[in-house]
Amino acid sequence: MQPNVDINDLLQRTLSGDRVALARAITLIESTHERHTNDARFLIEKCLPLSGKAIRVGVTGVPGVGKSTFIESLGNVLCDRGHRVAVLAVDPSGALSGGSILGDKTRMEKLATRTEAFIRPSASGQTLGGVARKTRESIILCEAAGFDIILVETVGVGQSETTVFGMVDFFLLLMLAGAGDELQGIKRGIMEMAHALAINKTDAQNREAAQRARQQYANALHLLRPVEAEWNTEVFLCSALEGEGVEAIWENISQYISKANSTGLLAQKRTEQDLHWFEETIGEMLRNDFRANPLVSGEKPNLEKSVVEKTMSPYHAAELLMHLYKGR
Ligand code: GDP
Repeated sequence: MQPNVDINDLLQRTLSGDRVALARAITLIESTHERHTNDARFLIEKCLPLSGKAIRVGVTGVPGVGKSTFIESLGNVLCDRGHRVAVLAVDPSGALSGGSILGDKTRMEKLATRTEAFIRPSASGQTLGGVARKTRESIILCEAAGFDIILVETVGVGQSETTVFGMVDFFLLLMLAGAGDELQGIKRGIMEMAHALAINKTDAQNREAAQRARQQYANALHLLRPVEAEWNTEVFLCSALEGEGVEAIWENISQYISKANSTGLLAQKRTEQDLHWFEETIGEMLRNDFRANPLVSGEKPNLEKSVVEKTMSPYHAAELLMHLYKGR
């Protein structure tokens, strides 16, 4: 089907940087209506060759750590420097609980009013895979619309950190200095994904505690696998509320990007990410198709029963289901 005139117009306005058009374009790619599929594909494919020029940064941390305050602060600094900043979120919690963790409060008030910024709440989706796909496609649209810095925010819900790690160049983990064991509750795997750690809420009165936490995290990092062989993950102190220390973190991000650019790592990482999402999507499509097969869904409960009763091995049961699926 040929794209209609409206979609061409929407594309042109998106490419010219019109934020209203960009928001509409993203709504279109988020749509699950089949009648939008062609238009969405048309938009993505036209934008894809124009994408890839932005710096993509993931920001994560527990609820309340100060992610949106940090992004508000950093986003304003970057806009002041002449950048155009898009903020996207990956929050699959809505699908599970009916209410999202990131989206409900008024966030990034000042940044939201700036013409150089574009803020988009998380796509809602049944699966993290679905939200991830829409966010990746939104990144493409934002880049084609001329946004040169993309900040992707996520909370530590399920696998969402790993998902965001797989779509950004640089992954920033925000933490708090607390009493007791600083490493409690911090999943080791997440620290191993971080290109930088920042201890937020380092306001004047808790500077000492923050310094101690910084040392502890720095020591802990020495015992962990580095995120990349050539990169040393540093621990920063910042107060997102006061804007203290935020620019130093940006300098660290910029250093990483110029280094990764010059060694070719950045291009290589992005290629690997694309291939990874290609594989993931094939896997998800096959799983969905498998589940939707009536022969499979009809026979599965019987085979489950056999597995539970130990009259059949799980492997044999899976093989039988696979034969049914393939029509053999
Ligand atoms: P998020 O859930 O991670 O996005 O956290 P928010 O950005 O919504 O911040 C949670 C609370 O912490 C809010 O009341 C913020 O005003 C506060 N906050 C964020 N950053 C700082 C900071 O650097 N210092 C202090 N004292 N409070 C902060």
